[in-house]
Amino acid sequence: MKKVIIKPGCISCGACEFYAPDVFEVTDVSRIKKDADIKKNKEKIDKAIQGCPVCVIKWSGDE
Ligand code: SF4
Repeated sequence: MKKVIIKPGCISCGACEFYAPDVFEVTDVSRIKKDADIKKNKEKIDKAIQGCPVCVIKWSGDE
């Protein structure tokens, strides 16, 4: 299964947490929650990827 990665450059805008609150947690920068169910949240993650203003969220393998 694909993994979600966050590349350096997050500006902590909070958009990913807004779109997929069960997956992303924004503190100083955005992080993937340890217990995140990636498969279940696939569509929300896609929205977060599209909504990230600096395009740092990626599916691994999509780089
Ligand atoms: S949407 Fe992008 S810039 Fe905004 S908090 Fe998430 S990873 Fe960081």
